Amino acid sequence: MSKSNIIAIASPPASEFDADAVRHQRFKVYTAKQLDQIPQLQQLSAERRFEMQVVASVLPFRVNQYVIDELINWQQVPADPIFQLTFPQRGMLKPEHYDRVAEAMRNELPAAELKALISDIRGELNPHPAGQLEHNIPMLDGEVVEGLQHKYRETVLFFPSSGQVCHSYCTFCFRWAQFVGDKDLKIAARESNQLQDYLRAHPEVTDVLVTGGDPLVMKTRNLRAYLEPLLSEEFDHIRTIRIGSKALTFWPQRVVTDDDAEDLLALFREIQAAGKHLALMAHYNHWQELEPAIAREAIRRIRDTGAQIRAQGPLLAHINDDAKVWARLWQTQVELGIIPYYMFVERDTGARHYFEVPLVKAWQIYRDAMQQVSGIARTARGPSMSSHPGKVEIQGVTEINGEKVIALRMIQGRNPDWVQRPFFAKYNEDATWLNHLEPAFGEERFFFDD
Ligand code: SF4
Repeated sequence: MSKSNIIAIASPPASEFDADAVRHQRFKVYTAKQLDQIPQLQQLSAERRFEMQVVASVLPFRVNQYVIDELINWQQVPADPIFQLTFPQRGMLKPEHYDRVAEAMRNELPAAELKALISDIRGELNPHPAGQLEHNIPMLDGEVVEGLQHKYRETVLFFPSSGQVCHSYCTFCFRWAQFVGDKDLKIAARESNQLQDYLRAHPEVTDVLVTGGDPLVMKTRNLRAYLEPLLSEEFDHIRTIRIGSKALTFWPQRVVTDDDAEDLLALFREIQAAGKHLALMAHYNHWQELEPAIAREAIRRIRDTGAQIRAQGPLLAHINDDAKVWARLWQTQVELGIIPYYMFVERDTGARHYFEVPLVKAWQIYRDAMQQVSGIARTARGPSMSSHPGKVEIQGVTEINGEKVIALRMIQGRNPDWVQRPFFAKYNEDATWLNHLEPAFGEERFFFDD
């Protein structure tokens, strides 16, 4: 690769951030009921706004003023990636689903009937992919432990009940079912005691991933109540605390100007002073999210605490299915001190048909993007499917003994013995998920099928 292929992006200097200008910015959020109150949407046709109402009645919608004013380029709407990332689009529902809901809304179907229709459609959208509800739920003393998932030996996922919303919602979210107010679908913790009891009983667990929703929607005092107990000696086996969050995109004010921002940063410092590694698992989809000065200030502040920021996000049609976008995203992350960590494949749930990218194309985009950055930005694994047996990475397309195949690798497995095992699938240009693939070389099953 020639040096000229490597992109150069200059970060704006920290001095561009004007704290006084944002200090009084209040968090203001719009949901489906307030769609019509968003001034910028008035530039769209009435038909388009109706389409958005229809989709927002089935899939969760929530966007805040910062995203509207600072992240979306309204000159580029509807193609703007952040608009696609946050605002409902007609194609996000399959035509048969869209038509049923649109007709019901036009005919002003009674509320109870409309609700039942919407609930049926949601049920058809695979609300809990990869067996999340049935397979990853841990037990303690014969009882289900609420609000936890334990799929991989060393890592426990914790869903604190007060962190099950986000500052905005992503239209492609694989956890969308947790946001639509259906109690049966909600995974949430009652309190941190259960987490502690479970971790006491599982010394093999080294990592706790606090996730949601977005745990950083919580007040610091609530987050502290969950995390502080883990700093005591009895939890010495917990070496890393990860916090999954998109706050650095949707509300960077969380660590800059919110009333308890300083306390949150103090908590981050305390975790590290207790000898643990704190990793903020930041979710990014497009370099546009990293442009505002306050977004960069938030990153700087977190890094100042000693915490590491690792970036991950899915590859999505309409948003980032372009190698140049990924190259610029990774390069900008590196310049801001963030470690590119994962490129995911969009999961088989919700509006997946709108966002999905075939696995072969996903790998081509990944490879093309990798070729545009230097080695230091090539830390992102991918494209990776978080599937039922484990995280499966597409390693490439090749030919073995005259057979064209897709090479894959299990990078994380339900069974620890599967980790790092390579395997091969028949070449399939249309496959968008693991279950579309068939074993190569005439094999009947993949090794994990047994
Ligand atoms: S921030 Fe994460 S959990 Fe929240 S809507 Fe987006 S993808 Fe889903």
